[in-house]
Amino acid sequence: MRGSMPVVGQALVACVFAGALLLLSESLLAGEKSPLNRLRPLDSRPELDSGQALGRACVPGETVVMRENVGKDSSYWRGLHRGQFVVCTGNSRNGELLVADGPGRVWQLSRTQVNATRFFPAEWTAYDRDYLVWAYDRNTLIFRESLANSFEGNFFYLLLDDDGEGRLNGALLIDSGTGYANLRPYIAPLIGSSPLTVVNTHSHWDHFGGNRDLQSLPNVRFYGYQPDGRYEPFPQYPRYSVDALFDGEEESVHRELGIGKRRVTALKIPGHTGDSIALYDAREQLLFTSDTVCPCLLFIEDWSAYLQSAALLKRFVAENPVKWLLGGHLEMSRPKADNRQHEYFYFGSNSHRDEHALQLPLSYLALAEREVKRVLADADDQGPRYDARRIDKPFHDVPMVPVPFPGIPSYYRDDANRLVDILRQRHASDER
Ligand SMILES: [Zn+2]
Ligand SMILES: [Zn+2]
Repeated sequence: MRGSMPVVGQALVACVFAGALLLLSESLLAGEKSPLNRLRPLDSRPELDSGQALGRACVPGETVVMRENVGKDSSYWRGLHRGQFVVCTGNSRNGELLVADGPGRVWQLSRTQVNATRFFPAEWTAYDRDYLVWAYDRNTLIFRESLANSFEGNFFYLLLDDDGEGRLNGALLIDSGTGYANLRPYIAPLIGSSPLTVVNTHSHWDHFGGNRDLQSLPNVRFYGYQPDGRYEPFPQYPRYSVDALFDGEEESVHRELGIGKRRVTALKIPGHTGDSIALYDAREQLLFTSDTVCPCLLFIEDWSAYLQSAALLKRFVAENPVKWLLGGHLEMSRPKADNRQHEYFYFGSNSHRDEHALQLPLSYLALAEREVKRVLADADDQGPRYDARRIDKPFHDVPMVPVPFPGIPSYYRDDANRLVDILRQRHASDER
């Protein structure tokens, strides 16, 4: 054993040296214009490429993500790196994939060397990081706030448009989470100097708290919460308005945003709150429904407005191609064993067991509408006695137990107050 020690020592030194070289080449690459390096700062995060290996022939034009480094040499990065996005150009006769990288080089890879994209992970866990970032494809990124920071585990979305060679034409951030942890280090490397539009889906504090982290970006515009010196997230929503998004037109129910060449439509869907909007991305055919339709408890401020909005969304998906509805939360509660009443997961719970999938089929719109109508039908003269309802019965075999109004368990309020205190301290700090 003693004789082998120096060899081990040398190997360690060599590893450290190789690591330093790797870091050096990564920092060089970070300054490079190459498009596919845009996601580099997150490449080492395992969640980004923890998806399934592509177990089939690829579809030409399909974006896939590298599972491993290929073809690297030590003097310069001439290969493909783990986490890099490449585009399928075809399939070879022996079943390997032909893929092109940003500079247009074509590579032949085995299917096990890449992960599929445009799919969703089996579970959304972010135990050791403030945000999980999932690349649905290279220009559509899904963020989830760590459950350890907020039991609500908000989802929000960054849509990018590039010119095909990686230079960004524009970026749209749909919501920004609670703002518990600084969002800027996650967003800034992804958008570079591209203009950023931030749109909040409604004036609940868990959807706009991160706006403040982005206000110092060079070219940013906010629709929803305009960050300023005063921060009072709960229960008041300062300076919140999406009027500018709709040109101040009361009657306007939708408005098109151009994010580069990517068309995104905003629709007014009051009900959850009076200022709720949905966003539709025509390119990926995704409809972002936030808290209005999600696999979670539905809170409804205005029931008749909610039903009108549900009808509007149903018409919209009948007239426009939509693959998935993507909401702002997964379940935030669990049924208690004794009375099956739902109670919230506690703040700091880093795991919500058996979470529902994020993506919802279109049938969920009709389901939400039906359940809300049922609650209304059960209501007496005082109106609905429930402010929330769980509507995922067809997906989970869990009894639908509404939360009685006001019905929010006291520990939820305690946790909310604690979070607000933390947020206030953060936002008061000069270090930001
Ligand atoms: Zn909400
Ligand atoms: Zn929410």
